[in-house]
Amino acid sequence: MEITSIICAKRDGRALSRDEIDFAVSSFVAGEVPDYQMSALLMAVCLRGMSISETVDLTRSMIASGGTLDLSALDGPKVDKHSTGGVGDKITLVAAPIAAAGGAVVAKLSGRGLAHTGGTLDKLEAIPGLRTDLTGPAIVRQAGKVGLVIAGQTSDIVPADKKIYALRDVTGTVASLPLITASIVSKKVAGGAEAVVFDVKAGSGAFARTEEEAMRLGRMLVEVSGMLDLRASAVISDMDQPLGRAVGNALEVREAVDVLRGDGPADVRELSVAIAARMLAMGRIARWEEAAGLAAQLLDDGSALDKFAETVEAQGGDRRVVDDPGSILPSTTQVANVLARRDGVVGRIDALAIGRAAGILGAGRTKAGEKVDSAAGVVLRRKVGDEVRAGDVLAELHSCGPERIAAADSLVDDAYEIGSRGRLRSPLILRPVEEC
Ligand code: URA
Repeated sequence: MEITSIICAKRDGRALSRDEIDFAVSSFVAGEVPDYQMSALLMAVCLRGMSISETVDLTRSMIASGGTLDLSALDGPKVDKHSTGGVGDKITLVAAPIAAAGGAVVAKLSGRGLAHTGGTLDKLEAIPGLRTDLTGPAIVRQAGKVGLVIAGQTSDIVPADKKIYALRDVTGTVASLPLITASIVSKKVAGGAEAVVFDVKAGSGAFARTEEEAMRLGRMLVEVSGMLDLRASAVISDMDQPLGRAVGNALEVREAVDVLRGDGPADVRELSVAIAARMLAMGRIARWEEAAGLAAQLLDDGSALDKFAETVEAQGGDRRVVDDPGSILPSTTQVANVLARRDGVVGRIDALAIGRAAGILGAGRTKAGEKVDSAAGVVLRRKVGDEVRAGDVLAELHSCGPERIAAADSLVDDAYEIGSRGRLRSPLILRPVEEC
């Protein structure tokens, strides 16, 4: 078999066989297929697409490129969640403790933020002492002891994804449904999950800009997972404005703790309960019609907060973060306000622009490996549908660099659209995938 004929076959729109896909992936990981040929193949996939069965084969080949986390000896259903990424998305920090408090085993392998989206690892590492670079055996141990662990991807889990993603990132081939699906599902299967809930974001701050696009991705994720014996469900949720009010690592941890304490923004609570309910139902801990009630109860009775504190402590973090987040989490030396310039109603807040502003303030990185400022970010004081008067505070900018604040100010100012009449607020959860 040779790689050029596989590239040509996909270029001409032919479906690839399982052997061809396996050959391409394994030879690339072994260093026998160079970057330029893999890039050509990825572009051909991007333009010509892949069928469900090709995508399943690609996912299988990617899983086979490395090891897997073996959670099989642990009691309880192994349930995971995955968000396709958004701005202000701290749902894992609330939903995973709820599901674990209900009896699910959640071994969550998370990523770091890049470009305008935040990463769960960066958020958690805002908690002093907390470590996310756990070994495979340490992840399994903590999953067994606490029921919840949130750690970075270990190097032997789907190494093919790391190598392929690095190429996709610089060859314009990220935006491909089969490539995204194989990348996400391979990591869920290799991470030892039996069931997974996908939160597919739709809107200006997400990869999928429209609900239809998000729906196509959601369906493919669910279908491919199912063919690999991973039970899956998905919801499409709104990412036209940031989730909650806080965007930035420590700021988001604080907001998540607020929600775990029964406070905090209603949209973060609503989506967290919805995702956790699906995790409980997919893990067969609760029947579908009872799952939302159980998730809300585990949040309201403090069980999820306790589970979060236990997890923080198990990973070396300061568990007092749940009692007094303000004194435990880092904060910036400066906070500047962005003010409304006219009376009206907030019609739109561009999530992408707010994500970029948080990055400029120090919360994000422009290339992999850069250090982030855990304390930096944006707090939205007004959200879509709120009435404002000229001079009201729209948002706070948190940063230690005055030049960073100056650069982010106009971005946040422009992100707000203030009109004379309120736009109907789009529902947070647009559609569950199985209802289509
Ligand atoms: N997230 C992933 O893990 N992979 C992709 O390809 C896109 C988003």
